[in-house]
Amino acid sequence: MMVSFPVKINFHSSPQSRDRWVKKLKEEIKNNNNIMIKYHPKFWADGSYQCCRQTEKLAPGCEKYNLFESSIRKTLPPAPEIKKRRPPPPIPPEEENTEEIVVAMYDFQATEAHDLRLERGQEYIILEKNDLHWWRARDKYGWYCRNTNRSKAEQLLRTEDKEGGFMVRDSSQPGLYTVSLYTKFGGEGSSGFRHYHIKETATSPKKYYLAEKHAFGSIPEIIEYHKHNAAGLVTRLRYPVSTKGKNAPTTAGFSYDKWEINPSELTFMRELGSGLFGVVRLGKWRAQYKVAIKAIREGAMCEEDFIEEAKVMMKLTHPKLVQLYGVCTQQKPIYIVTEFMERGCLLNFLRQRQGHFSRDMLLSMCQDVCEGMEYLERNSFIHRDLAARNCLVNEAGVVKVSDFGMARYVLDDQYTSSSGAKFPVKWCPPEVFNYSRFSSKSDVWSFGVLMWEIFTEGRMPFEKNTNYEVVTMVTRGHRLHRPKLASKYLYEVMLRCWQERPEGRPSFEDLLRTIDELVECEETFGR
Ligand code: ADP
Repeated sequence: MMVSFPVKINFHSSPQSRDRWVKKLKEEIKNNNNIMIKYHPKFWADGSYQCCRQTEKLAPGCEKYNLFESSIRKTLPPAPEIKKRRPPPPIPPEEENTEEIVVAMYDFQATEAHDLRLERGQEYIILEKNDLHWWRARDKYGWYCRNTNRSKAEQLLRTEDKEGGFMVRDSSQPGLYTVSLYTKFGGEGSSGFRHYHIKETATSPKKYYLAEKHAFGSIPEIIEYHKHNAAGLVTRLRYPVSTKGKNAPTTAGFSYDKWEINPSELTFMRELGSGLFGVVRLGKWRAQYKVAIKAIREGAMCEEDFIEEAKVMMKLTHPKLVQLYGVCTQQKPIYIVTEFMERGCLLNFLRQRQGHFSRDMLLSMCQDVCEGMEYLERNSFIHRDLAARNCLVNEAGVVKVSDFGMARYVLDDQYTSSSGAKFPVKWCPPEVFNYSRFSSKSDVWSFGVLMWEIFTEGRMPFEKNTNYEVVTMVTRGHRLHRPKLASKYLYEVMLRCWQERPEGRPSFEDLLRTIDELVECEETFGR
């Protein structure tokens, strides 16, 4: 039931019908604790359930579909160290495969937690080659543990202590394979191990299965299926556990890669504010450069995923984006170190100076944000929570976009669930509050609301309405009114951002062109 439930919702003809169904289901299960923790009121899309990504809830589907791949994304040393070869199939028949598989020519000792230790002669799958010197790769079958008996398997799974930790190992009966699976919460509420034989059908060609109804031509396909369908297993195969050597611990020097900042090089100064993730302080790096340091409160963030993503975020560099300098992940709390923005958050900046802004100052703020967002759009990076509260202002009055992509790592139901009190409904288009369908075009909608915030000098959108009312109003076509300081033309730009269909909205590239023209106009002719 847990797995099929969100899929069923997908077939509902309308959001209303889905909501009715969800409501009924909630009634049915509200006193059943076993089910509640696995409950997802949203859709399966883009490889994950959209309602939340909260792994601590142990809800199936909370993580990316291809957990195996994302959890051990690794970097490879430079290309010359590896050569291509057709791989021999490691375990039963494989479908023809378009993945690029390489064989390591040399051993490589990992020095960072994200590095992949390479064993000479072993095969690895290339995930990404977008860097000249480092490729992202994963072990061909990170879950396959040759020569591992039952007790060794249990020891490894217990050490890892991850719900749904699993491995495929050689069975005690030669030629057969076993899936060893660990659950903390399954069975009769107790933790434990399960060992499932991979069985074969009597058909020709042979098929393999853990659950008879779901037979496949190869073991990787079975694993892939059960990664998001328990289908009779005590839990999904959530987390591949491997016997392959753990990565070497981080050391000074080389191992401190670009994104890892040495915390002893930071000094802490005054508090700047606090948010969902924790307290932000002004600090200095190497006693010289001012930085903002966010100390992540325990349980506030899905840290593992963020740390992985931080590497991507660090590469996002633009004068209108608050630069992520690095992270300190080797201690608790972890720190996120960013560019320091002297005048703090845009929303307060607007509110504290109401009545003191000229219209071109306001337009120039929109232009700043639009430039930052156009850069994100160009890099296919979705902000997901663009709003004045998530922009910062520097000494020179330049507005920069902050907290991009961070919404994905929040571990607070009230924020992540579209019915939660902290969910930014008033900044969201219908496809987000209905289906959590985020895109650059949903960012465009939020940008329209942000423009509105700027031109009202920090008013709360729909201030007299609850989130629930806003959903109904926006669904019926109601939109925010024209701020007094916004020209008709500018308001039209906002309205274009609030087109119901995402395709009907302009891109940030279009918006930037429009705003640039407006800025020029205002400069040339006055208003
Ligand atoms: P969270 O992401 O945890 O919600 P925020 O990023 O909103 O936290 O930060 C909380 C507050 O700290 C902001 O409103 C702002 O006042 C201050 N702050 C955050 N980052 C910076 C920064 N880089 N420079 C200056 N002040 C900052």
